[in-house]
Amino acid sequence: MIVVMKAGSPETEVVRLTEEFETWGLTPEKIIGKHKVVIGLVGDTVALDPLQIQETSPWIEEVLRVEKPYKRVSREYRHGESSDVIVPTPNGSVKFGEHHPLVVVAGPCSVESEEMIVETAQRVKAAGATFLRGGAFKPRTSPYAFQGHGESALGLLAKAREATGLGIITELMDAADLDALAEVADVIQIGARNMQNFSLLKKVGAQDKPILLKRGMSATVEEWLMAAEYILAAGNPNVILCERGIRTFDSKYTRNTLDLATIPVLRALTHLPIMIDPSHGTGKSEYVPAMSMAAIAAGTDSLMIEVHPNPKKALSDGPQSLTPERFDQLMQEMSVIGKAVGRWIDESELAIA
Ligand code: PEP
Ligand code: MN
Repeated sequence: MIVVMKAGSPETEVVRLTEEFETWGLTPEKIIGKHKVVIGLVGDTVALDPLQIQETSPWIEEVLRVEKPYKRVSREYRHGESSDVIVPTPNGSVKFGEHHPLVVVAGPCSVESEEMIVETAQRVKAAGATFLRGGAFKPRTSPYAFQGHGESALGLLAKAREATGLGIITELMDAADLDALAEVADVIQIGARNMQNFSLLKKVGAQDKPILLKRGMSATVEEWLMAAEYILAAGNPNVILCERGIRTFDSKYTRNTLDLATIPVLRALTHLPIMIDPSHGTGKSEYVPAMSMAAIAAGTDSLMIEVHPNPKKALSDGPQSLTPERFDQLMQEMSVIGKAVGRWIDESELAIA
């Protein structure tokens, strides 16, 4: 249930109401929107009468029920406004959200060596990316495939961060690695295979680093949003949703089916920022540019693109990785679409700022 306060409501009234709702056994959450303050009420609200709540204060504009099974992540919970995930990085804050320029995250599937990750970081930064991705812990289908260099790779990511100032996104698979990983990651990735690892979701929900929650390979949009709800319910409001392709009947020509329709669907259902991963979404580097541009045109807030200095020699996901040269060219191609939809920062504007 949400309680929408009238514009200009005094803070003392918001506090008084919050305390009163607590005495009813509810968990009130104050949400400050652009124009209004909303109090989200979580708990057993079934027996509550919205009209009765309305009468508790003349400053209440309306009381609405959130009918969806997911509450905190629903668009209604923020009274229709979108939320931003603002991530501090050495190069300044990077803002993920509907009303911000597109954020491009690029880098290899796995961190392979210091030279490789630092070089890739420098190349993707020069092309215009603001985040570096790279796995230290890799979820591989085969136990005999390269599993990532583990904790030592976290140190290499730290070096790439130091060398370039790029923000770092890397995947957490095991809660035991959370503290070490959170020391270097600016955003923690929960991969497709762990989307419904509820104990892991609760743990990352109980810490402060923003979370990139990838869609499970066979997850419905509702299951995905319920997974995000776990993170918000545990106290972490900073979640970005990443579509990375789903399993369908046809996997002959692409690794997965990239569900770009999730962009408008998520926009309607949730306030959380959206990311598209065309690399895992298609599995083939030659299809990545078209899907990247389609995702921008459809309104994504960010993109995650795998880039490797030598894809043929990559220890994981080489076939879907772009070379740094192709990535650089793609950034220029994407800028045309990005500018057309008002989601691209012009180099010349950057120079003035
Ligand atoms: C990855 O980002 O390299 C990865 C393993 O992604 P996903 O969880 O989407 O398969
Ligand atoms: Mn990968």
